[in-house]
Amino acid sequence: MSRRRPKRSLGQNFLVDPNLQRKIVEAVEAGEGEPVLEIGPGRGALTGHLVARGVRLTAVELDDELAGELAFRYEADRRVNVVHGDVLSLDLPALAGNWSGTTVVGNIPYGITTPIVFRLLRLPCPRDIVLTVQAEVARRILAGPGTRIYGALSVGVALHARASRICKVPRSAFRPVPRVDSVALRITPRSPPRLTPAAAARVRVFTRAAFSWRRKQLGTILARHPDLRCPRDALERVLEARSLSPALRPEQLSPEDFMAIAAALPPAERSSAGPSRSGSSVHGVGQERGEVRQQGDQDQRRQQRKPEGDDAAEHRVDRDVGSDALHDEDVEPDRR
Ligand code: SAM
Repeated sequence: MSRRRPKRSLGQNFLVDPNLQRKIVEAVEAGEGEPVLEIGPGRGALTGHLVARGVRLTAVELDDELAGELAFRYEADRRVNVVHGDVLSLDLPALAGNWSGTTVVGNIPYGITTPIVFRLLRLPCPRDIVLTVQAEVARRILAGPGTRIYGALSVGVALHARASRICKVPRSAFRPVPRVDSVALRITPRSPPRLTPAAAARVRVFTRAAFSWRRKQLGTILARHPDLRCPRDALERVLEARSLSPALRPEQLSPEDFMAIAAALPPAERSSAGPSRSGSSVHGVGQERGEVRQQGDQDQRRQQRKPEGDDAAEHRVDRDVGSDALHDEDVEPDRR
């Protein structure tokens, strides 16, 4: 396997601790012949353990050289399919085959953690997800209402899945050693799902609007946010139905509050200035981007990731930490 310098632009910190490799793979509840999709196999730290288990493995790797080496290594194994591509661009259900029976596993690049999580929680969802993410992002995913780190990511994950901590993965377990620790998480999508795709899109718009104005009160957000613009009478009805005060701040609402309010909101009126930065509104949720990116988007993404230099050891920090980015389109190109 290649020992050339890891690419900082692709979040390449390789897991070198064999005990942690085993522990993470043990959390994957898939037996012989069952479908598993691995995101970013890299040099194969988790892949080897998965192959030994005899699962039917699809491994998606963006790095040309690493993808080529893995494909060569498992050329003779018919249960292993190495795909060279961008996990955010590919049609994952089509790739995996039995998507609702698939377990997704990955020690994923920190720079695109949030879009990967939301991509995996778009309906239809896989059976189970085991991801190693930056410890701070794990805290945000697991956070409950009333905490400073509770945000759109926490609400989005809670509505679509149950998340729990598997284990800590200290920074010393990676090469090169990153600046931060990691946590392995299990995220199990709810089955059946709690929301239809249309209802999920409405909650996303509302949640994103609310946390982009997280210091404002609920009444103000509902009435004035350009993606919501809820008329006053409707606003009062929506809040009364749930016995919520308009003075509450977004972080005081439970995921169920977000779900109920989004369901009760009337279609938004377009602001005279046109759609807001997000380009979507409760009215316009049907206009959200399709699930599968076109090749052009993929090329653009690759270009955006062109590294300023692959030699810095200080990486593996999710640029989404502290933001409330909900979709990949909210996430800025990697400038690390
Ligand atoms: N799984 C390996 C391990 O644990 O040692 C590698 C983990 S490394 C943190 C992340 C891997 O994801 C790298 O191999 C990187 O090239 C790959 N990667 C980065 N962006 C990707 C993308 N958009 N799609 C697929 N793989 C990606």
